[in-house]
Amino acid sequence: MRTITVVGASLAGLYAARELRAQGYDGRLVIIGDEPHPPYDRPPLSKDFLTGKADEAQLALSDAEETGELAAEWMLGVRARALDPRGRTVLLEDGRTVASDGVVIATGASARRLPGASLAGVHTLRTLDDARALRARLAAGPQRVVVIGGGFIGAETASSCVALGHEVTVVEAAPLPLLPQLGADMAAVCAGLHARGGAELVTGTGVAALHGDAAHGEAAHGHAAHQDAQHGEASVRAVELADGRLLPADVVVVGIGATPNTGWLAGSTLALGDGVLCDDGCVTGLPQVVAVGDVARVGGTRAEHWTSATEQPRVAVRNLLAGHTAEAVRPLPYFWSDQYGSRIQFAGRRRAEDTVRLLEGSPEESSFLAAYERDGHTTAVLAVDRPRPFMRMRRGLLAAVPVAA
Ligand code: FAD
Repeated sequence: MRTITVVGASLAGLYAARELRAQGYDGRLVIIGDEPHPPYDRPPLSKDFLTGKADEAQLALSDAEETGELAAEWMLGVRARALDPRGRTVLLEDGRTVASDGVVIATGASARRLPGASLAGVHTLRTLDDARALRARLAAGPQRVVVIGGGFIGAETASSCVALGHEVTVVEAAPLPLLPQLGADMAAVCAGLHARGGAELVTGTGVAALHGDAAHGEAAHGHAAHQDAQHGEASVRAVELADGRLLPADVVVVGIGATPNTGWLAGSTLALGDGVLCDDGCVTGLPQVVAVGDVARVGGTRAEHWTSATEQPRVAVRNLLAGHTAEAVRPLPYFWSDQYGSRIQFAGRRRAEDTVRLLEGSPEESSFLAAYERDGHTTAVLAVDRPRPFMRMRRGLLAAVPVAA
């Protein structure tokens, strides 16, 4: 292979570039990213970056020394628009093309938005630019923040907003946040973190509409809304819930999930469907095209976790360089989340019928370790502020994952 192109210049793309060099690829390496920024880490965006404890320099995933060693051609601030049907040419939005012998797809996912007209004060949180905008908005003094969606990013954002002194309400359409991930008992425990941390949690009702009003915003909500009014943009004023309730809001953060960035692949011959469909070695229908990270549906599962995005590239690159699937990833979903001073960690594959057994601590103390079990086997493990025993159990679970041929 003379040219390998990595599309997506973030976590999984950077790890793929590292693996290519580590595994001996010494040809031309092109990295295309539509954001103008060099690779940065997203988890702090909803945590320390939002609260101001971390600055932008601390988000960097790489440095000048490594950039030199990678010897890649970086094309940043330009979107890949298409991949030809043979998977050999990446077409860029600015008209350039990159002829490629191998392609790594690492285009991640984008935050889902609510339909309707845009209102000042309504934010999503996926990119550095999103986080900068939200951070600037929150700096305008104590405000009423409504977070729509009680998933991890919503919960972390709520926690950060509380830490910044804002009045926070989290709206979750399901009866409990994180229900599909954790099951009812443990989801109820995590839901309790909001109340303990100082945020209000409203569950079981969706959002009907967002209401905005420039004049009202200017009168009621000070500096930020005043600026919106000057720019002629209406400020968000309230969130109307499906049950008719109206929640006053100066800032709304929409945390309702993410969709994989596969639009640019519509004209390719790759199988798409909630991600780029790959075998369990991250290889697509074309042997010289692999996919990694949030955009990849590997062996039927698409993860949106930091650890998957950093683990898949080693296997994907090995298979890309081999020209066939020589190795499969050993998927054991793992994620962590920091909320209200607590660290939640989860690993494994839970099914609805699994039972939960408390192994250490207690939810009342806000520090515990619990195992999900099925037929006498541990299927998953959850911890709140028990990192060491959690990691031990995670290693045990990983060792039990069969290695595919
Ligand atoms: P991304 O990071 O989404 O990167 C994809 C890149 O490709 C982006 O730069 C995108 O702009 C670019 N791109 C898209 N389309 C194109 C195109 N057509 N052409 C060129 N470039 C393109 N995970 C955890 O496990 N724990 C956490 O605590 C945690 N916290 C998080 C907090 C936040 C706020 C967010 C947003 C995510 C968090 N995650 C967390 C998830 C984790 O960050 C992701 O799993 C990880 O970023 C995925 O990496 P990726 O490279 O696959 O995708």
